[in-house]
Order: sequence, then structure tokens, then C-alpha cells
Amino acid sequence: MSVKIIYHDNYNIDIGLLKFLHPFDGMKFGKVVAQLRHEKLIDIVEPAQCIPEAAVNNFFSSLTRRLVLHKRPVLEALEAPYIPLLPYSWLDKRILLPMRWGVAGTLAAAQSALSGVDAWNLAGGYHHANPHSMEGFCIYNDIGISYQQLIASGELTADDKILIIDIDAHHGNGNARTFIDNTNVTLLDVYNADIYPNTPVSRQRVDIAVPLPTGTGGELYLNKLSAALEQLSSGYKLAFVVAGTDVLATDPLGGLSLSVAEVAQSHRLVYQCLKALHIPTVFLGGGGYGKDSAAAIVAGIREVAG
Ligand SMILES: [Zn+2]
Repeated sequence: MSVKIIYHDNYNIDIGLLKFLHPFDGMKFGKVVAQLRHEKLIDIVEPAQCIPEAAVNNFFSSLTRRLVLHKRPVLEALEAPYIPLLPYSWLDKRILLPMRWGVAGTLAAAQSALSGVDAWNLAGGYHHANPHSMEGFCIYNDIGISYQQLIASGELTADDKILIIDIDAHHGNGNARTFIDNTNVTLLDVYNADIYPNTPVSRQRVDIAVPLPTGTGGELYLNKLSAALEQLSSGYKLAFVVAGTDVLATDPLGGLSLSVAEVAQSHRLVYQCLKALHIPTVFLGGGGYGKDSAAAIVAGIREVAG
């Protein structure tokens, strides 16, 4: 099995002293790559360019297109406090631009998978954003933007069946809302049902839902994940996997209780299932806010790419 890693130095978000106000570790991507850089089997490539502004604007509703240009709604989406003297240009350069590079990585990963080489984008997996809303640290729904671009370029058609497997600790409300009326997109979502986001409309959109209580450990998690994966069939043109590592016991936000080895095992289970069904696969970063997040991503990549 061969999996390409998609990474760019521009993914890294350096928010300086503001990091004391927020759990987001924006420098995680570079830490992961530093550990993988010298491994022979692992091929690391950069997206050729940032996602064009037009691609983002085509996806956004007219309201979101305007809101994303203002400091207050962006800071609210990032769950950061309002900071009066902070210029919008700083936010755009330090936080939004790296995320747009992350979107470009998702598109590049999807193009790679569709042409025969599965790919793991270290960034992306911004599964709380949708055309009408930026929230939960997510500004741009990278899967939705990439899907739109792939249809525009003819690399996908509107009739192609797409699968989104979300194993981040949080429910992927943004993906559910983005594809709320698209019956060609199947959603499998394993999430902590006791935490954000708890919107019934998006939860009901999930085709194969695995809601779990806070404190769920690795054994039950992996059993439930396996049972959910068994419900899948072949025939999908592409699968996106939102591989957030906030399911770790050491994560401050996810509320679940997996070890690093169990997270890597979840990645392996998902990948083995998708390969058995011959579905081209893209892994995406998703959330992960604890001290072991980078280690779990590295372990997962070794399981899948090794
Ligand atoms: Zn999450």
C-alpha cells in the first residue's frame, strides 16, 4: 500500500502569545513531518498552490463571503476572545491563509487518490464549517470546496458516490449541512454525543451514526467502529476520512479515552476496510488538541503507509 503525505510549511499557524488563550496547536503539522521526513517508505509532497479565492467564494453563501472579511465573526468561529487592537490582516495572514493552504492540500490529496495514489493531508478536515457558517475552529469546509472544484474540473461527476468517514471526536455537523440534500454523499460518523455540536438536523443527516458517551475507551470504540465499517459497500468513487486525534484520553476537548496505539488501530481499520472495497482514500487532519496528538498522527500514518 502506498500513501502520499500532503504537507506545506505554510500549514503551520504561529499565533505567538495568543497561544496561551487557545488549545489549538497550529505548529503540529511541522512536528509530524519532522518525525516522518527521513522514513524511506513515506513520500511527502506539497500542494502546488494555495486554494484560489474564487474557489472559496463559490462555496460560501453571500453572507459568509462577507462575514469572513471581518474580525469579530472570524474570532467567534475560532472561539477566541475579541481582541480590540488586533488587525484583521494579522488574522488573515497568520490563521486564515494557513487554513486556505490546508484546503489546497485536501484538493491535492483528492486528485492524487482519484489518479491512483491514496493521500493523507496533514491539515484540513474542517468539518464544522459549511457554506452558511464558520464555527468550531473551522472557517472553510475543505471537503465541500474540493468536491465543488473536482466536479467543475470533470474529475468527479455529480452522480459519483462519495463517502465521508468521520472519526474525529466531534460530530461533523459542517459536512452534514454541506451535503444535507446530496444523496450521493454517504456519511459515517463516530462521535462523542455529549459534546458540541448537538444540532439534531445535522446529526440526523448521518447515514451510519455511532454516537458514544463521554469516557468511552478504546475497546468499545474500536468494536463500534468495526461494526459501522461492516455496513459499507463498494461503489464509491472517493472516500474522505476526517482523522481527528481528539479521541485521545489526553485530549482536553474530545471527552473520549483512546490510547495512541488505539488511535493508530482505528486508522488501520478504516483503511483496511476502504482498500477491501477498492475505494480511493484521502485522510484529513481534523481536530487534536492534546500533547499526544502529533504522536498519534505519526503512528496512524505508519499503520497506513507502512
Ligand atoms: Zn474534533
